[in-house]
Amino acid sequence: MSELALRAEKADAADELAGVRDRFVLDTVSDHAAGAAGVYLDGNSLGALPAHVPGRVEDVVRRQWGELRIRSWDESGWWTAPERIGDRIAPLVGAAAGQIVVGDSTSVNVFKALVGAVRLAGEGRDEILVDATTFPTDGYIAESAARLTGCVLRPVTPAGVPDALGDRTAAVLLNHVDYRTGRLHDLPALTAAIHAAGAVAVWDLCHSAGALPVGLDEHGVDLAVGCTYKYLNGGPGSPAYLYVRRELQDLFDSPLPGWNSHAEPFGMSPSYAPAPGAVRGRVGTPDILSMLALEAALDVWEGVRIEAVRAKSLALTDFFLECVEAYLPAGRVDCLTPVAHEERGSQIALRCADAGDVMKRLIERGVVGDFRHPDVLRFGFTPLYVGFADVERAARVLGEVVDGS
Ligand SMILES: *Cc1c(COP(=O)(O)O)cnc(C)c1O
Repeated sequence: MSELALRAEKADAADELAGVRDRFVLDTVSDHAAGAAGVYLDGNSLGALPAHVPGRVEDVVRRQWGELRIRSWDESGWWTAPERIGDRIAPLVGAAAGQIVVGDSTSVNVFKALVGAVRLAGEGRDEILVDATTFPTDGYIAESAARLTGCVLRPVTPAGVPDALGDRTAAVLLNHVDYRTGRLHDLPALTAAIHAAGAVAVWDLCHSAGALPVGLDEHGVDLAVGCTYKYLNGGPGSPAYLYVRRELQDLFDSPLPGWNSHAEPFGMSPSYAPAPGAVRGRVGTPDILSMLALEAALDVWEGVRIEAVRAKSLALTDFFLECVEAYLPAGRVDCLTPVAHEERGSQIALRCADAGDVMKRLIERGVVGDFRHPDVLRFGFTPLYVGFADVERAARVLGEVVDGS
């Protein structure tokens, strides 16, 4: 066994989160021993399935829907699920209860949050700053939000935000971790700069929630959105969430004021009156099946500290970089992810001209990451179920794959 493989074995034995892996459906330990197991490094795109979720979903479908039918809106807690599940996500992102509502896609929540932010900013502010390096959907939605609110949209890099801020800035939409490079942006400092300019801060947490501490309340973030199918393992297309800071809830003016966000949804009034609290962020009828799958999936966080997740994530990504250096010819790939811990999320992005081809062959060999156009190999490290032996193996296979090309 190589020195790196030995170190991986030791690190796995000392890992306080090692047992959490058993809460997921993954290739088994005996597959591992036979060298046949896959290494799943794509949990930053679709989290793995928690083992108890199928049984819970079956109960929701067969008993709650099949037998109780409409009674389940009350008796099975369907009606209150968006806020109840929001309160389960809250501790993972450093939010007190009552500020997060679950529902809709991230894209829709970006729209609600950004238009809501411009409306909060008030008169005389007619510019939106958006992360120029953002996941495309955020930029597309921001462009439409700007048009609808009569704002000018200015794409800037997150580092360029402080200089771009001014007394016309209404809102700033930023990603906490860049989906491509894995760069972690300085949420506390950027939020403080945005506030100093009198603007409203909107953060997209898709690639940080469940991977590292966020501290929404502590840092005074105004609005935030995130998805739940990446590090939160909610399943394909599971609903996203919207955070509105408590002090802003009564002022939040949703651009999608559906009946579910009405103060009296069953009053069936022709005029709209917004509900207080997190409920105001709802739109229409919640997508109960995927929402309750997500609720079940959140059980895997029982007894897990997000600080321990962060510490393991950094150790995994450090170790991966070390293994890549050992197993790949120098200069074969460039690392796009910052080496400094305070600038790194929970993924490593490597660039090489033949990335598409390399990822195809990696996946054939059971190492699953993803390819991002045009030349990026992306590897996500989900500390709840990725171990150090997985990391060593992934880098070793990567070395073999690039060697053969
Ligand atoms: C994954 C991701 C999304 C996904 O948006 P959906 O509406 O859920 O498809 C949006 N923004 C960022 C930054 C993402 O990483």
